[in-house]
Amino acid sequence: MTETKKLRRLKVLAKQYARANRIAQHVALDLVAEELGFPHWNKLITAIKNGWQADSEQMTGVEAFVTRALPAASFRNGSPEAMSRRLSYLEQAEHGMIGDHPYQLQEVFHDVIIAGDGWSITVPENPGAIPIVETLPDLGGECPVLDPEFLERALRLARDRAAQVRAEISIDWPRRSTKPDFGGVVRHPLSHVESDMWFCLHCNGKITGGQIAQSLWHCPGCGASLSTSLTRHFGPMIRASHSFR
Ligand SMILES: [Zn+2]
Repeated sequence: MTETKKLRRLKVLAKQYARANRIAQHVALDLVAEELGFPHWNKLITAIKNGWQADSEQMTGVEAFVTRALPAASFRNGSPEAMSRRLSYLEQAEHGMIGDHPYQLQEVFHDVIIAGDGWSITVPENPGAIPIVETLPDLGGECPVLDPEFLERALRLARDRAAQVRAEISIDWPRRSTKPDFGGVVRHPLSHVESDMWFCLHCNGKITGGQIAQSLWHCPGCGASLSTSLTRHFGPMIRASHSFR
């Protein structure tokens, strides 16, 4: 990578970081500079002008820093009807309190939903998917889930439950479905076909055995669940012993 390209890449990374964490871009630029050992962005620019170069290890470090900081959840406005329907549906759920706020927590078709008055968080079955936080727009700043500490606690409760749900889903699967062999070969949970490379018939995404085992048979590209209805969704690409019909 040339120096100009590296600088452009650093700016793109800072922008991503700023957007993900809802902070001003100049603050993100300073944080990126700090990752590279400079007190702030301007010092980094001065150093680059004087011939300083980020090596590939440092670039990887910044990439990792930004990836780690990607949002814990994505926020959207919920519709009041859908949210009140969801709360009544969760009547059978486990009830608890986070601080002064009551919550209900339940598994719904392998997703985990935790919800309270005017907010809900869905942790999808797909371990690679980002949790979705819904709030009622007219509650504004009153909504507890906008408090980072509350959000963290609610997310932890839902994620712990999601981990149990995922463990239960894969409990009947062959061990080779979640643990690739040294060649990266995994076994499809239902058909027992083995391959080190798979593709998603939803998005044509190419998926390695390691990736698909880690994502519990969800497509990393489009999120589709690939452990069931395999004749429609799924086929082995390379090295599979036979094809699905
Ligand atoms: Zn896909």
